[in-house]
Amino acid sequence: MGPAEIPDFADNHGAEAGLPPKSVPWIHDVSRDRAIQTPPRVAVVDTEQCAGCGLCSDVCPVDAVTINHEAHVDPDRCIGCGTCSRECPRGAIALRSVAPRRS
Ligand code: SF4
Ligand code: SF4
Repeated sequence: MGPAEIPDFADNHGAEAGLPPKSVPWIHDVSRDRAIQTPPRVAVVDTEQCAGCGLCSDVCPVDAVTINHEAHVDPDRCIGCGTCSRECPRGAIALRSVAPRRS
């Protein structure tokens, strides 16, 4: 896969996973000739600030958030799109960098 093919790969991958196309940027990992998701991020909840309203869970495109008094993010499902962080009325959920994912 060459760099010029990455956008098509991202669209196809997102469609297969039921995700919005290009919801997360992809780059070409030249050393291994494969696509990786970047920037590699995952949502993290500030439990002191979280009110447990569930809005983040409602808007998450991959159902990575569950509510049990407060929000909990499954890091294996989270694609780091940031939708939850943008929608949270209390600023209680933010993105943190993690190790890169590979396709
Ligand atoms: S939207 Fe914010 S306050 Fe509401 S459950 Fe999610 S993290 Fe907590
Ligand atoms: S960053 Fe995106 S995928 Fe991850 S929990 Fe928030 S809305 Fe869901």
